[in-house]
Formats: sequence, structure tokens, C-alpha cells
Amino acid sequence: MTEATVERIRLFLIESPIKMARLQGVGNVKGTVKRVLIELTSSDGVIGWGEAAPWEVFTGTPEAAFSALDIYLRPIALGKPVRRIRALMAELDRALVGHAEAKVAIEMALLDIVGKSSGLSVADLLGGRVRDTIPLSFSIADPDFPADLERMRKMVPDGNVIYKVKTGVKPHREDLDHLEAIRKEFGDKVDLRVDYNQALAPFGAIKILRDVEEFAPTFIEQPVPRKYLDVMAQLTAALETPVLADESCFDRRDMMEVVRREAADAVSIKLMKAGGLFEAQAIMAIADIAGLPGYGGTLWEGGIGLAAGTQLIAATPGISLGCEFYMPHHVLTEDVLEERVANRAGHVVVPDGPGLGIRVSEASVRANAQVLAEA
Ligand SMILES: [Mg+2]
Repeated sequence: MTEATVERIRLFLIESPIKMARLQGVGNVKGTVKRVLIELTSSDGVIGWGEAAPWEVFTGTPEAAFSALDIYLRPIALGKPVRRIRALMAELDRALVGHAEAKVAIEMALLDIVGKSSGLSVADLLGGRVRDTIPLSFSIADPDFPADLERMRKMVPDGNVIYKVKTGVKPHREDLDHLEAIRKEFGDKVDLRVDYNQALAPFGAIKILRDVEEFAPTFIEQPVPRKYLDVMAQLTAALETPVLADESCFDRRDMMEVVRREAADAVSIKLMKAGGLFEAQAIMAIADIAGLPGYGGTLWEGGIGLAAGTQLIAATPGISLGCEFYMPHHVLTEDVLEERVANRAGHVVVPDGPGLGIRVSEASVRANAQVLAEA
């Protein structure tokens, strides 16, 4: 039997409307988000989907991911055996520096194909499930804080109990008021986390974070900019609350540095930073040995990217702090999937079914997003 190869690659740069503005301090999002979808067809007729969801202040731009896939990565991937995923990923890395989002899009589409061909889920291909549901965190990032509180009043009774408050954007006093308002209304019923998205200057950060600790957050995410690993280490040592590295840790090399310098207590794993599901598992292997749990972070992925993230977390024991895969159910007005990945009682339900466990079609993409460019 001849090995199936990549026969066709189609790309879509899409734009999707969102329901609410998102205030993150940097790269604030309002109205729409853009991302790139990739459809791979194998020589035996199996179709796999992938997604590149960059964020310009974090990893790159959707337009750059589109060009990277179209001009540089497509010619390499075409004709390659669909089952030799690691070999192809190594070749893509040699051919193009960076562009993690473009590379992971190809990897997840190949895993989708191999899964569909074999009847196995991507989680099966990654070692098999260790969990069937993943606790879901919703981010409190609406510039209109009372609107977020109102959302919580509906979501908490539904079982959504994890909330990550984006801090450091508004004045410190206001952040404290918001944390106080949440604790006052919901008490210990909610698992509260805070994320500074690198907003604090090292000077004075400890004092600000000690105030925040009064509200018993589960972790404090990326308080200072990526480059200040020594400050991250000082904060990790000084604070009672665990510090989580997000922007400070993209890949294995970063993870080694975080561990070596004791610069965090936990790590945010994002496929768009890591550039691959295998790479993400490799990062977690390093984190595991140092006793650092992982958290399923996101940029602005829709259903395809998040399905890949769901499969990854299902098969990766160390990613135990839940995920923030709330976009399709709570922020996007439409998703490109024929049916969204289920949420139940504040958890993402790992889909059954082969590959990524989702159904996507050109029709569902066109019906639910605006296609800005295709190639
Ligand atoms: Mg973050």
C-alpha cells in the first residue's frame, strides 16, 4: 500500500465578529478577530483542518501567518506523507524561522487526517485521554466591568466557577475594587485568578501584588514583561500566591530557563506559542519534572484551534489548571464549526470521534465567517 501524501492545501484568512470588547492593556480587541484556517486533503481523500490564530502584540499577525503558509510552507508540505508529521515539522522549522501559529496549523490538520484515517482521536494519537472534561475559565476583560459581573451572575449558577481577571490595565485601585466586588458577591464559590499580561513595571510590582493576594487568587499570571525573568523569580519566591509564566514561556528553551531560574510556579501552554502539539507536550515534560502545572491558554482561537487544544489537554496529565477556551460559546457570535465543542457545567467536554472530533466544511466556514482572502 502506498503512503497517503498531502495532495491539496487551501487557506482562508477569515474575520469573525465578537460580542464584546476585550480590554487587555495591549492589543485591545473590539468588534472582530482575524485568523487563518487551513484545509489539507490527502491523496486518499481525507480532509483535515487547522487554524493559525496569532495576536499581533504576542506572536504575530494573521496576515503574516497566511503568507507564511501560502508562500513558504505550502510548497514543503505538498507531496509529503501525512503520517510523517514530526519529520515534516522539523523540515518546516528549518525552512522558516518563527511563525509558530502557521506551523501548528499544519500539524493539527495532519493529526486530524491521521486520526480520521485510523478512527483515533488526536488525544489517542498523543497517548490517550487522561481526562474527559476540562475546567473552563472565563476572562473578566470587558471594559464595562458591571457587564462582566452581570455575566457572572448568569454563569456561576450554571457551574462556571473559574474567572481570570485581566488586571494592570486600569488603575490599581480599580483592580482591587473589582476583585473585592467579585469576592463580596460570590465568596469562595469562585476560583479567581489574575492576569497582568506583562503590565507591571518591576519597580513596585511586589507591593501591588501583595494587595492582590488579599483576594486569594489561585495564581497571578505574568505580572511583569517577558524579559524580566529574574524579577519573575523574585516574585515567585516572595509571594504566597503561585506565579504563572505566560509571555515568559513560548517553547522548550523558555521552559528550561523558567525552571533553571525558578521564575514561575506554573505555566500557560498555548499552541500558538509552542508551534505544535508535540512541542507543547515536550514543554510540559520539562514542567512536570520541576513540579509546575500547566494551564490551557489561548490567543483568539476559534473552534478548530480550540479543538486541538482540547485534544492536547485531554492527553497531557500536567495541564491540570483548566483552560480558557471560552471564545466559541461566550465571545464569538458565530464559529466555523458545524457544531460547537460542548460545554457542560463549567467544563469543556472532550469530543468523541476521530481526529480533532469536530466537523468543518467550506460551507460552514463561509456561512459563519467573512473570508478576507483565500489561496
Ligand atoms: Mg496571559
